[in-house]
Amino acid sequence: MLYNSTQNAAEVVSSAQAISQGISKDGGLFVPQQSPVYNEDTFKSLLKSDYKGRAKKIFADFLTDFTAEEISDCVEKAYTKEKFGSENPAPIKTCKLDGAELNILELWHGPTCAFKDMALQILPHLLTKSLKKTYDGKTAVILVATSGDTGKAALEGFKDVDNTKIIVFYPVDGVSPMQKHQMNTQEGNNVKVCAIKGNFDDAQTGVKKIFTTSDVVEKLADNNMLFSSANSINWGRLLPQIVYYISAYCDMVNAGKISFGDKINVVVPTGNFGNILAAYYANQMGLPIKKFICASNSNNVLTDFIKTGVYDKNRHFYTTISPSMDILVSSNLERLLYKLSGDSDTATKEWMTQLKTEGRYEVSESVKSVINEKLYGGFCDDEQTKLTIKKLFDEDNYLCDTHTAVAVNVYEQYVKETGDNTPSVIASTASPYKFSRAVLQAVNPDAELPQTEFDTVDKLFEISGAEVPAPLAGLKNKTARFSDVTEVDNMKNYVLGALEIK
Ligand SMILES: *Cc1c(COP(=O)(O)O)cnc(C)c1O
Repeated sequence: MLYNSTQNAAEVVSSAQAISQGISKDGGLFVPQQSPVYNEDTFKSLLKSDYKGRAKKIFADFLTDFTAEEISDCVEKAYTKEKFGSENPAPIKTCKLDGAELNILELWHGPTCAFKDMALQILPHLLTKSLKKTYDGKTAVILVATSGDTGKAALEGFKDVDNTKIIVFYPVDGVSPMQKHQMNTQEGNNVKVCAIKGNFDDAQTGVKKIFTTSDVVEKLADNNMLFSSANSINWGRLLPQIVYYISAYCDMVNAGKISFGDKINVVVPTGNFGNILAAYYANQMGLPIKKFICASNSNNVLTDFIKTGVYDKNRHFYTTISPSMDILVSSNLERLLYKLSGDSDTATKEWMTQLKTEGRYEVSESVKSVINEKLYGGFCDDEQTKLTIKKLFDEDNYLCDTHTAVAVNVYEQYVKETGDNTPSVIASTASPYKFSRAVLQAVNPDAELPQTEFDTVDKLFEISGAEVPAPLAGLKNKTARFSDVTEVDNMKNYVLGALEIK
């Protein structure tokens, strides 16, 4: 299987190259040239398998330049019971809301308590093997722009991994106190964390720019280094996410919730469009998905896009209680548009260029009509998010985080509007304890808010009885290692400084 750039179909690479490089030289994203398509027999064999077995099969079909042993090694090291708390790293919990049954796919049982672990626990293994195949002996410099969760998950995945260095940028006022504390206390000899005076989009644009600035790239090359990415622009981030949708479907069949072949809906709290895009790839492989329900917070650029076909980032940027979705430029939409335009690199390039220069583009009628048929977009604000957390908690004693609540809220809107009762899987993307303050305010609006983050965690535990994940509880007495803050314009110099390159 080969991969090409969304903005230049003639730029063709192996999967190892796509993963090492992260992003194409032309600024496009790498996409598989065709998806494997699974027939009934393949799905039936996956039904009998466990999570790791399913992962190995799917990885093998996309990473054809890896040996079976290499893939097995990556999967076995990543999805351990020790790291994810059980043999199934992505369990489905059922809870009741207004009498209906919700299937909540909990993706946050990994070491940093957000769904990013599902990909970032395996990416370092995939990347080290990819580097060996493509740039043996070089050090990969992982630049990360984070809205909170990617940063910590990437740091945890890459800490002390040979031949890698990692630098994380986060928006100074754009992450939760727990997220900030998680990052600033990170251990490891190859890690660096820095806040920027801007929002996530500034961080992401800054990182993308450094990646493609030739004098910086040359300086790295002179020092035997190369840039790579742990953001979801890297194919190695998306592939692991396909696995849990297919695995969740198998688990639903095995649990008797659906029959083999039945369609499901998937509901995804969306920021950079990576998670929901993975569901789309699963669908391309034959997984029966009826609707992709794309849930946003007040930064509802995707809701508008799905309704109108016009993507317009020229709008107010809201800082919300679901900060990992505070994004106006959803990078991975580019991959969907490439597919929906019939693999047109020229159309994709034109839209992405318009987005860069005017902050706006409008897709063709044919793309609009597919989007209309397959996707549903909705959003809710902070108030509605909190009400949804409270409702789930009051009705079924289920405590969810702010991002998951946005998804549940939009799912309710969808059912109300369409009457569609197709069994649905709702992606739950973070532990509620990463956003304790907002969740506490939601479940108990009259509670007095404690002064410190960990007192808030304790209080939330007292009220809810929901278990505090050990990796978060363990941070209580840790002191911060990092406190750097820099201007957006200075990110390039910060990187060179951190790498001790002149
Ligand atoms: C990253 C993140 C999202 C958004 O996922 P995308 O793949 O960027 O759409 C949603 N919720 C949480 C908790 C996240 O960390």
